[in-house]
Amino acid sequence: MKKEAPVAFTDRLIRCVDWFIPDELQGTTATHWRARIFVISHVLGPFSAVAILGYLVRVMPVLDWVFWTLCVLCGSFWTLPFALKLARNLAMPALYSFCTLLFVSVFGAFFFGGVSSPFLPWFLTAQMLGFFYLSDRPYLVLGIIAANLAAFAAAYGLNGAFPERVPIEELSTVGMISVCAATLYNSMMAIYYAYVMVAQSVLQQEIKDHLETSSKLRVAKHEAERANEAKAVFLAKMSHQLRTPLNAIIGYSEILIEDSEASDDAAGAEDLRSINRAGRHLLSLVSDVLHMPKIDADDVDLRVRAVDLDQCLEEVSATCRNLISHNGNSFTLAKHVELGTITTDETRLRQILINLLGNAGKFTKNGRVVLHARRQGIGDEAQVLISVQDTGIGIAPEVIPSLFKNFNRVESNEQGGTGLGLAVSQKLAQLLQGEISVQSRPARGSEFTLRLPVAVQAEPAAA
Ligand code: ADP
Repeated sequence: MKKEAPVAFTDRLIRCVDWFIPDELQGTTATHWRARIFVISHVLGPFSAVAILGYLVRVMPVLDWVFWTLCVLCGSFWTLPFALKLARNLAMPALYSFCTLLFVSVFGAFFFGGVSSPFLPWFLTAQMLGFFYLSDRPYLVLGIIAANLAAFAAAYGLNGAFPERVPIEELSTVGMISVCAATLYNSMMAIYYAYVMVAQSVLQQEIKDHLETSSKLRVAKHEAERANEAKAVFLAKMSHQLRTPLNAIIGYSEILIEDSEASDDAAGAEDLRSINRAGRHLLSLVSDVLHMPKIDADDVDLRVRAVDLDQCLEEVSATCRNLISHNGNSFTLAKHVELGTITTDETRLRQILINLLGNAGKFTKNGRVVLHARRQGIGDEAQVLISVQDTGIGIAPEVIPSLFKNFNRVESNEQGGTGLGLAVSQKLAQLLQGEISVQSRPARGSEFTLRLPVAVQAEPAAA
């Protein structure tokens, strides 16, 4: 408790000082501190004048108008923190302070001791004060200094000598007090200047570091853009180079399968089916990899038209049946009623369903795969729900949230794959203004549900 007391006291002191400072001057640290220095110096500074004037009271035989003028002018410094609060800017109070201190120093010097007066050190302090607060108007500061010096010289010239109100020997003690007070005042300013300089050099270093970092970032961004362009060119070329031979393998293997079947060569036909399956699998992997950047760049043209959903599902089922039954699975297409037509992009819809059915067949062994479809809702709100259920290995709950992210593969699964199929499917579903959701339990099976509007609206939603 005892340790915290000084901090709380400083805080309270700073809060008191800040009470005088208008919000406009609290914006930047430098301006704020300049205003704080102004307030502190104008609260404490006049006490040194009290010491000097108090000493004069002791040594002056009569307290005349010169003494009272000095009292009023020195006392007016205490009003300046309030003037700062009212004026809401530093320039006016600072100008008053500078002019008054300059005048007090030459006026006091003229009447008390001339060029060896205890008031003269304040002439230097006043100059410093002027340049400190009015640094943006150096000529004004120089002009005021020159005017005061000229007035001092003129008064001396007119009078012929400095009037001796108090003998010069009597002023030596007050001279010492004055020099100490002025030194204290100047030191305070100098310390603040040193603080500003250090802060500024730290700031400059930080700006330099920041500029270096941003130029490195610019170079890295440029490199990344170039790499991206190179990737796009590569993918465009690879697309052709890979698909063409793969399609040839698939096509020729199908012809050969038919030939083998015709010549009752069951073993040969089975080998050829393996080649065909491997070719299709490879083609789907290649398609996913090549497709992803296009979808990511929103570079997919939708061909939206009326689609006979019943026929589409029949055809997709026919395409996938072999693939699914290969693992000893049964496959059923379950539709309770006719689904009619929907308005969508048939190619993308097929792509999604083939992906989901392919996964179900791949991750289920000697189980069941069901493709289930139904309509839901009426009018504009109407949707179709197409789900692919399997009784396969299922998916762990912690994996499900990241299932639709690019290159997400469950580490433990032993099947080959890119981990792109579901990500591509989800993005395509979103392009068709729908979405895919999943429910799954490990070792019990999975259900992927594609929800689509019965009619894709003219402006497809961004994926
Ligand atoms: P992949 O090409 O690896 O199949 P997907 O994006 O299609 O990529 O699937 C990502 C991962 O999700 C798969 O590696 C698999 O672990 C899991 N997964 C997808 N569908 C099923 C499913 N029907 N049953 C079990 N796991 C599945």
